[in-house]
Amino acid sequence: MNIQYTPTTCPYCGCGCGFNLVSVDGKLKGVEPWKRNPVNEGKLCPKGNFSYEFVHREDRLTTPLIKKGGEFVEATWDEALDLVASKLTEMKEANAEQLAFLSSARCTNEDNYVFQKFVRTVVGTNNVDHCARLCHGPSVAGLAQTFGSGAMTNSLESCAHADVVFLIGTNTLEQHPLMWRRALQAKENGAKIMVADPRFTPSAKQADLYIPFQSGTDVALLNSMMNVIIAEGLEDKEFVENRTTGYEELKEMVKQYPPEEAEKITGVPADLIKEAALMYAKADNAALLFSMGITQHTVGTENVMSTSNIAMLTGNIGRPGTGVNPLRGQNNVQGACDMGALPVVYPGYQAVINEELGEKMQTSWGCGDLSCTPGLTVVEIMHAAHDGDIKGMYIMGENPMVSDPDLQHVEAALNNLDFLVVQDIFLTETAALADVVLPAFSWAEKDGTFTSTERRVQYIRKAVDGPGETRDDWEIISDIATRMGSELFKFNSAHEIFEEVRYVTPQYAGMNKERLEKPEALHWPCPDEEHPGTPILHAEKFATPDGLGVFKAIEFKPPAENPDDEYPFILTTGRMLFHWHTGSMTRRSETLDREVPTGFVEINPEDAAKLGVKNKEMVKVKTRRGEIEVPAKVTSDIIQGTVFIPFHFAECAANMLTSGDELDPFAKMPELKVSAASIEKLE
Ligand code: SF4
Repeated sequence: MNIQYTPTTCPYCGCGCGFNLVSVDGKLKGVEPWKRNPVNEGKLCPKGNFSYEFVHREDRLTTPLIKKGGEFVEATWDEALDLVASKLTEMKEANAEQLAFLSSARCTNEDNYVFQKFVRTVVGTNNVDHCARLCHGPSVAGLAQTFGSGAMTNSLESCAHADVVFLIGTNTLEQHPLMWRRALQAKENGAKIMVADPRFTPSAKQADLYIPFQSGTDVALLNSMMNVIIAEGLEDKEFVENRTTGYEELKEMVKQYPPEEAEKITGVPADLIKEAALMYAKADNAALLFSMGITQHTVGTENVMSTSNIAMLTGNIGRPGTGVNPLRGQNNVQGACDMGALPVVYPGYQAVINEELGEKMQTSWGCGDLSCTPGLTVVEIMHAAHDGDIKGMYIMGENPMVSDPDLQHVEAALNNLDFLVVQDIFLTETAALADVVLPAFSWAEKDGTFTSTERRVQYIRKAVDGPGETRDDWEIISDIATRMGSELFKFNSAHEIFEEVRYVTPQYAGMNKERLEKPEALHWPCPDEEHPGTPILHAEKFATPDGLGVFKAIEFKPPAENPDDEYPFILTTGRMLFHWHTGSMTRRSETLDREVPTGFVEINPEDAAKLGVKNKEMVKVKTRRGEIEVPAKVTSDIIQGTVFIPFHFAECAANMLTSGDELDPFAKMPELKVSAASIEKLE
């Protein structure tokens, strides 16, 4: 019997926990702790513990598929790749801007790097994006404007040193359990935890202070807290004076939000707003954590900038136990963004509109002219496909038929394409609509790197062979590029690709194999091989051109859609402990799926009584986009007037109900956390 332990990184949330995959005679049998990994020190949440269960599923894709007469037919790699290469060549010669490409926060840095390089150097467009757009696009846009760098400021471990941990729009206990462990370590040392959320989440239940507020009113709440802080003279005058600009405008703006006024907008009693403000401002070190409760709004970028404002106002930047910390939902959202799988930047956030940077990339890559026209974002791509302006699409490792807003619109858009290629590990809801399906390795079958939410770049290592004829994602893309005539994709390994990544990505330049092999790996920025990496950003100065943090005076704007007589409820969507993203992996894990086998809608008991709905009875939830039938979960964990549906379940898909019509002007985020909805009991 051949037993092997392969140290690797979890494929689920952005915490980036390490563990050993255990294989026996080439088959995965379980996971074992990897205690020297400093992220999680041997601890895991349920998703990590059962992360191996989907890998050997019988419904894995094992061979390329080509749709003929409406049915998938097995094909050889040559047949499938020749077809893809010839169709893409024909379509790019007609108009490269009519092609769009979705990369993947689930895939490695190497996969994402090769993908965007292919789109830019071979196809000749910047129409490349991925579903970070629908989670932390506003974090990148907002933090870049205020701090000069769109990433989590501190490490996970840093949170354990806080005196106050302020969670707003994040259910950290369920979504990032090993980050929650750090918050609990802080609490054991005497810290207070405060949680602002429309749901009385498991995180909120363990908080010292719970601030229930109406979804979409984050700016009003944060402005009001800042109003109190300034009125009480609790702002950090030295920090504001020496390290920031824009304070006077902010001060004038927040004057308009005394707690009594903010109460009318947020639903939070004025005294509770004051208590929250004082708790946060009086802490020596306060860490602010947020997730999609902040970002998934048409004002998501402004919400993010408001979190920067309150942290700078109180001087909570640049030390252990402080910071503004967007918690990334997927394993490699940070890395996919770092690698330039975004329509406006090359690897390392180098803007495509900057001609000098474009010339630098041309020289580095040895390619012809690169387009300096920004590409389309995820939702814009679907709108363009719907209208016939995008005619071909290539999707690697994403499932927009569950993850994107307004699924009827998405389905119509994908069906409207002349040519759709999907590269994945299962025949997902999206892959089912494709013309060509290409089977790829899962994370347990490949080498490479993920970059976690704390900017830590870590190895994943191949533990077992992929099934059938599956291949590495980067290898499939490289093969197509070569078939389309490019000489720039002669890679033999993930390591070779990473060496090129280091060469073109300044933040990764100092990361060599020897350093990344260590369990602690490295946090970017790490500009040279002597640099120790940077667990905490902005210690001395911000990453802005003048080194100063920028306050943004932000006015509250209501959500794009509000309840009315026809649709009287606010519908909000989100995630849960046992499932991850579109469920394509966790719902194929027997253990995880057994815990929560289908979706539900949380309804407050008062609302349920008015509707005549009892727990577990089926209801119809309807919005202007569509309707779903789903069991009711009657619970006082949700405030009156608001209902919650997790988005993991295709059979009662929350995104049938959400809207992609209105977008955040900076990050193009739709209003995923607020939809006007009606509920009807089903007989
Ligand atoms: Fe994986 Fe996140 Fe759980 Fe860690 S906390 S085991 S990274 S899902």
